[in-house]
Amino acid sequence: MLNLADLVDIGDCVMKGLRQITPYVAGAQPQEKGMIKINTNEHAFSPSPAVLAALHEFDGNGLRKYSSIENDSLRCALAKQLGVHQDQLIVGNGSDDILALAFLSFFNSDDSLLFPDITYGFYKVWADLFRIPFEEVPLTAQFQINSADYMDRKTGGIVIANPNAPTGIYKNLAEIEAIVVANQDVVVIIDEAYIAFGGISALPLVAKYDNVFITRTFSKDAALAGLRVGYGIGSPKLLKVIQAVKHAYNPYSVDAIAEKLATAAVSDAAYYTQVNAEIVEIRDWFSAELKAIGFDVLPSKANFVLVKPAGISASTLFDFLQTKKIYVRYFGDKARLSDYLRISIGTKNEMIRVIQIIGDLVA
Ligand SMILES: *Cc1c(COP(=O)(O)O)cnc(C)c1O
Repeated sequence: MLNLADLVDIGDCVMKGLRQITPYVAGAQPQEKGMIKINTNEHAFSPSPAVLAALHEFDGNGLRKYSSIENDSLRCALAKQLGVHQDQLIVGNGSDDILALAFLSFFNSDDSLLFPDITYGFYKVWADLFRIPFEEVPLTAQFQINSADYMDRKTGGIVIANPNAPTGIYKNLAEIEAIVVANQDVVVIIDEAYIAFGGISALPLVAKYDNVFITRTFSKDAALAGLRVGYGIGSPKLLKVIQAVKHAYNPYSVDAIAEKLATAAVSDAAYYTQVNAEIVEIRDWFSAELKAIGFDVLPSKANFVLVKPAGISASTLFDFLQTKKIYVRYFGDKARLSDYLRISIGTKNEMIRVIQIIGDLVA
């Protein structure tokens, strides 16, 4: 991967003004035949038939024109589904796009932005990129977010993924609300990338508090990671600010095909309710199987589990699985995660095979 810091360091021929930054390291995207790819929390099932039909019917001639700047069709469909006003929604090129815009829009304080020391790795990268002062708040020994750590202190804002990643641990709505209430002078972002796998959304808080901003994505629960569509939900007050920042940066961030297909996905909620329930069922079965062979499995409400292997180190198991073309995620560079592997939930057949291979190895 291109490392900008390396470029800046080359030779004595120094140019002025070049930015040094440590980039986000995404999970690998291997393309092997017969592999089991359970390393980036993509959905195990295909997108809804309604999405595939919309793709088939898409009129390519329309691509001559710019995509919609307001994304009214997608925002209208989402507004109906979520029971919010269209003005409370912004859509973007994946929720990474929305989160980056939200950081730019809402975190302009001299006080530190707070987020957990173990969470979505991109928060730190954006804080660095946008020169936002930040503090990483340690999770408890049980990998829990301690609400009290986010109360009664001066802060420039808060970001919490719920369920958290890569732990999968969900925090109940009352505790999330307490954090929001205790910080009404700053914005609290709740990243709900995995909320469809068993958690309860903080959506009701949006109607009650102006300082809540929720982000969601079609990548994880709508099987559309490759389409790149995400959205944010908040008060009209916050939306005005973030829409202005979007229009100061990249107003046409959602292309015409993406808007059409994401709108089709929203129209087929029944399909997604069913396949996401299936993922939850496989996750709970897979967790029980791992526990039965002595693995420590964190309680997950996401489409992945964070597990501590027994009888073998995480890094050895990671390497071994790779020889079997099974790709999981290892966060070896994070001390607190070096004994763990994050395993996305695939199809039942894939997970049966994973259990067989791990079981044969550690038996
Ligand atoms: C995957 C993920 C995202 C970003 O997803 P997009 O594909 O950019 O929509 C955001 N937050 C968390 C916690 C994630 O795991």
